[in-house]
Amino acid sequence: MTWLDLPESTGFGITNLPYGIFTSASGPDRPRTGVAIGDHVLDLAGLTGDPVHATGTLNAFMAQGPESWASLRSMITAWLTDPAHQERVTPHLLPRDSVSLRMPFEVADYVDFYSSRDHAENLGRMFRPGSPALTPNWKHLPIGYHGRAGTVQPSGTPVVRPQGQYRTDDGPRFGPSRRLDIEAEVGFVVGVPSTLGTPVPVHDFSAYVFGVCLVNDWSARDLQAWEYVPLGPFLGKSFLTSVSPWVVPLAALTAARTKPPVRDEPLLPYLEDGDEPWALDLSLEVRLNGTAVSRPPFRGMYWTAAQQLAHMTVNGASLRTGDLFASGTVSGPDPSERGSLIELSWNGAEPLALPDGSTRTFLEDGDEVTITATALAVDGGRISFGEVVGRVRPAPSA
Ligand code: MN
Repeated sequence: MTWLDLPESTGFGITNLPYGIFTSASGPDRPRTGVAIGDHVLDLAGLTGDPVHATGTLNAFMAQGPESWASLRSMITAWLTDPAHQERVTPHLLPRDSVSLRMPFEVADYVDFYSSRDHAENLGRMFRPGSPALTPNWKHLPIGYHGRAGTVQPSGTPVVRPQGQYRTDDGPRFGPSRRLDIEAEVGFVVGVPSTLGTPVPVHDFSAYVFGVCLVNDWSARDLQAWEYVPLGPFLGKSFLTSVSPWVVPLAALTAARTKPPVRDEPLLPYLEDGDEPWALDLSLEVRLNGTAVSRPPFRGMYWTAAQQLAHMTVNGASLRTGDLFASGTVSGPDPSERGSLIELSWNGAEPLALPDGSTRTFLEDGDEVTITATALAVDGGRISFGEVVGRVRPAPSA
């Protein structure tokens, strides 16, 4: 138990200890590393004096590797549980509502996968009616694409409605997207770089990956539908990707590890995840203007993050500190578990009813979307991933 007075059910108990970057509202100060505990932030730069925590990004600390991560985590646990440290630690605990949270890490490369079978099948049914819902490669490799690292932004960044080309019956037109959507995803952040030409085996996942955040992969479906053949997503995705401010370390997720679903095609050896797979039982929730519209279950994802990491390096591509790879839209089998509006409204055919009497197919200007998640903690409670939020602003006027 901690000597701190922890309010119940913040999800930021002693078993979580996620890392973020913050500035305090009072006084001039530089962005620095903090750990969420209860409704406080522990200022690691102030408490430890270690310059690695005063860089304004988690990258330098993440690059130190698993021994450093484990060592600091056990020290933080001791500082917050042993009353002998209380006097020294207390001045470095700031109320969480008094700080501003920043982008937690500098994104190196960004990859987005497509690993929910339900999501892939739903989109296959909508876009390729009459053909098999899954493409022939889907059960043999985790499909992904390289996204735009420079437009990955922290929670709260306004979502300016993108403009671009979309198809109409009278030919292509240019204008603000009319089908702006969300994708509720889980992101994995690489700490330790790898060597060019040397693949990272599926079982080395925890030697490279530091932690987990939430991702909203904002998507303009009309731009995407017109541009994506044959090279995949481009401007329909690259205008903004939002991430949550707290990165939950893998060490906090031991109780959330679970078995992946049965794979009904044999895996090639480099994707075999054996006895210690990295499926994670995370419960996501998507809120639109405050109303819960979906509860996607992460546990059913066909491909795990360890398999995604093995796949994205199997050709010899190297990892850099700060690489972010996201799961792909998380959707479950039930209609209430779909992680995008294009699925929830079935391509616009079944509008969602909101409590204010309005309906939605895709996002309107002013709409706010919040994604949250929790997971089982080692003490039987729940840990929180915090939230990733974004509000839609009108497209710039011509
Ligand atoms: Mn996506």
